Amino acid sequence: MISKIINYTLKVHNYFKNWRKSLIGQLLLRLWFCFILFFIIIGSIQYDALKNSLYQGVEQNLLSDYHSIRNSMYDWLGRSVLPPAKFADLRPGNFVAFYSADSKPKFIVYSYGRINQDMSTFIKQELNFNLYQKALENEPFIYTDSLNNRYMLLVQPVITTDFQNVILGYAIIGEPLYEEDLVLKNSIKTYILNALLVLLISTFLVAYALQKPLQPLLNISATARKIAGGRYDLRLPYYQKTSFEIEQLQEALNHMLSQMEAALNTERKAKENMSRFIADASHELRTPHTSIRGFLEILQRGGVEDKEILNSAHQTMLIETERLIRLTESLLTLNRLAQEEQSGEPPQQYSCSLKDVIPELLPLLNPMLGNRTLKINTYEINKEERLEAAIPDQILPLKPDELKQILFNLLNNAIQYTADNGTIEIITGTDKEKTTIAVKDNGQGIPPEDLPHIFERFFRGDRSRSRTKGQGSGLGLAIVSELVRIRGGEIKVDSALGIGSTFIISFPTVISESLPRTDLQ
Ligand code: ADP
Repeated sequence: MISKIINYTLKVHNYFKNWRKSLIGQLLLRLWFCFILFFIIIGSIQYDALKNSLYQGVEQNLLSDYHSIRNSMYDWLGRSVLPPAKFADLRPGNFVAFYSADSKPKFIVYSYGRINQDMSTFIKQELNFNLYQKALENEPFIYTDSLNNRYMLLVQPVITTDFQNVILGYAIIGEPLYEEDLVLKNSIKTYILNALLVLLISTFLVAYALQKPLQPLLNISATARKIAGGRYDLRLPYYQKTSFEIEQLQEALNHMLSQMEAALNTERKAKENMSRFIADASHELRTPHTSIRGFLEILQRGGVEDKEILNSAHQTMLIETERLIRLTESLLTLNRLAQEEQSGEPPQQYSCSLKDVIPELLPLLNPMLGNRTLKINTYEINKEERLEAAIPDQILPLKPDELKQILFNLLNNAIQYTADNGTIEIITGTDKEKTTIAVKDNGQGIPPEDLPHIFERFFRGDRSRSRTKGQGSGLGLAIVSELVRIRGGEIKVDSALGIGSTFIISFPTVISESLPRTDLQ
């Protein structure tokens, strides 16, 4: 039984602990606090007003009693005319106690009518105030006697009537405050009861009225718990007719959730990209290594003796080693670009001209061109003798090495995917806003299904994959597009199978005077 009671008490205690922490609980506690403060202030003002009016009434009574007894006082105290035990002119319940000039009690006169306490006790008590002093002050005051009875008293001197004004003694006109205090006590009781009733009713009303506006908040927290459990696609429902603050909260939270989901998706994608990149890079690195190992094994098993095998092994290992070097360089370039982008430093402005770069590129391209024609704006530059005049002074916001790499990668691809008698063109164009360079070939073209992927890292078209060993690893266009993007440009491709491909790079036009040329390194 006792344990049941303890359990029950604990339950109730826990319930109130939780309730106190709830929003409604918090609001109600604050409401109670305000109500109680309000009732205390209003109550004390009312109490003071009532007390003042009651006590002022008593003071008036004392003064009027004094006036009615004033003329008889001298006779009674000075001439020893015996006073009546009860004096009709006194207010019911009041009394006048007489004292000699040296504060010795003499006699007491009561009123007629209803008396609530035994007044005779008053005169028997020793007074704890100075009669002379109080008579001098000539003001009613409140006095609590040793039996805890409260009185309002007025002390008046009894003086001779022969103009010599000798003090014969003192008269204390008094009225017990029994009735006034009772009225005050009852009014406090009623006031407190009423206040409690108002508090109780308003608690129920406010708790009921708050239920509806706070419901969206409860729903929001329920949804937030689900979201925290991993349902990042969930959004807080929209409530019509809810308060402005809750609407704002819901909007802000939904916005935050969208941002969070986007950030999580980006992170997940970045992780996926990274692991795919590592897998692709490992795969690309493994192929030449495996090939080199295979030839080394052949040579170890006696292939060194056979000159033909030895030559072919050397040839292939050389090609594979070059491929490895190219691959490593491409990876390093991509890594450098990523680091530059992540450094957070403001992008630097570079500038270089085609005139600086093309003459350096031609010696690299010429051996690969075969019978293909390489044109720059209608000039056949691989056969042109006045090369300087043929190359336009096209300025681009790139480092010379970067422009060289972009052109080399594009032209290298164009050469690879164009028949031996094909034509490859560099077409330039400048207007106020854009500077463009296009590399156009009339080669095999890119299948439409490959087009969206050609700028991805390690992407190689089917035909490219089946080409001879030592060809690109699918990083050439990825590097080109990263470089163009980082320097604020755009790259587009236009291609049709059997007709050819055009890679168009465009940058905002650089005003050549405003930028210093970046020297070739
Ligand atoms: P790769 O090193 O394999 O050439 P790239 O990134 O340079 O890698 O090119 C990716 C793919 O885009 C190539 O495998 C090829 O299928 C296609 N491609 C690029 N340039 C051309 C072009 N000029 N003509 C046809 N296909 C091209």
